[in-house]
Amino acid sequence: MTSPPPGSPMKHFVYTAWPTRVLFGGGMLEEATAELDRLGIRKALVLSTPEQARDAEALATRLGHLAAGVFSGAAMHTPVEVTRQAMEIVDSTGADGVVSLGGGSTIGLGKAIALRSDLPQLAIPTTYAGSEMTPIIGQTEAGRKTTQTSAHVLPETVIYDPELTYSLPSFIAGPSAMNAIAHAVEALYAENRNPITSMMAETAIGSIGRAIDGLMSDDLDRVARAEAQYGAWLAATCLASVGMAIHHKICHTLGGTFDLNHGAIHCLMIPYSTAYNRDHAPDAMARIERALGGEDAARSLFRLMRKTAPNTSLKEFGLAPADLDRAADLAVQNPYYNPRPVTRESVRDMLEKAYDGTEP
Ligand code: NAD
Repeated sequence: MTSPPPGSPMKHFVYTAWPTRVLFGGGMLEEATAELDRLGIRKALVLSTPEQARDAEALATRLGHLAAGVFSGAAMHTPVEVTRQAMEIVDSTGADGVVSLGGGSTIGLGKAIALRSDLPQLAIPTTYAGSEMTPIIGQTEAGRKTTQTSAHVLPETVIYDPELTYSLPSFIAGPSAMNAIAHAVEALYAENRNPITSMMAETAIGSIGRAIDGLMSDDLDRVARAEAQYGAWLAATCLASVGMAIHHKICHTLGGTFDLNHGAIHCLMIPYSTAYNRDHAPDAMARIERALGGEDAARSLFRLMRKTAPNTSLKEFGLAPADLDRAADLAVQNPYYNPRPVTRESVRDMLEKAYDGTEP
């Protein structure tokens, strides 16, 4: 990229907009049939996890003759044997598209099918993980997860209907929302950050931050559910557009090595990874502080983590001190870009704080 001319009022930047069509709002699920028509899908295979099988059946009934069937075997980290089973059903039913109803696990399965068949996807997310907006797919084979980026896996259409998140229990909703915040936080100090993603990231953090109390309340808070999903969409758009840093690296390392829950580990670690970069990304910190209304970005995120996390320390995840050494060793192999240099010692120190669960 060429440098900006001297005196240029704005830095040069690159922003890639992915072409997904998005429908947002309560009751938008009603548009599913029209959206399948728009995509030219005549026989859609409806996907879900086993836990959401009844919702998938109900959606297939609603779609009527446009539904080829239901496959409810989606599992976390997209195991290839599950994808093989789903592909057999695609072939036997002659499905010409997929509808993924669920969180990142179900949307991952839809992407895995698209990777193999190029079938069009209608994604209907019911968590805040954000996979629906990205061209990224992670798949697991023989216990090993590999990730690739391909425009073929990007869903053509996404329907965000906050009413579908009303059934999400707070112990999943809270960590999932923090998972989304983590995408936005890292977008703010990404090497290829730009004014567009930074604007979306700041709005995402504010929107989700305002929603946390409502998500964790015993009473259904419809406004909070809508705010959280709006923020999650923006955060997912950031994840799709710019690179992620130390936080995503350490969460992938911890999650993959010790088989920890995706949302829960993101939720615990985001205050600590933000503190890691505290003195190396001042603009990002200022934006997070503006969005959350606090005086210190990492400590504001720590307070949100304490409200939402199922485990508030790595110790509570069952890790031992020796595991921190192993994780630090792995995290410094092939490190991602990060504003603060990534050394084994500094990563081990960050993990130690998260192990004890102390305020960063
Ligand atoms: P998930 O999809 O496994 O969902 C967690 C649980 O919540 C499941 O049992 C699910 O059935 C249930 N659930 C979902 N929505 C519900 C609702 N509205 N009501 C009741 N129960 C509901 O978990 P996740 O955190 O959404 O996704 C994690 C997966 O997504 C991981 O495999 C992760 O790697 C992947 N991911 C991928 C990307 C990407 O860009 N490729 C981005 C984010 C996450």
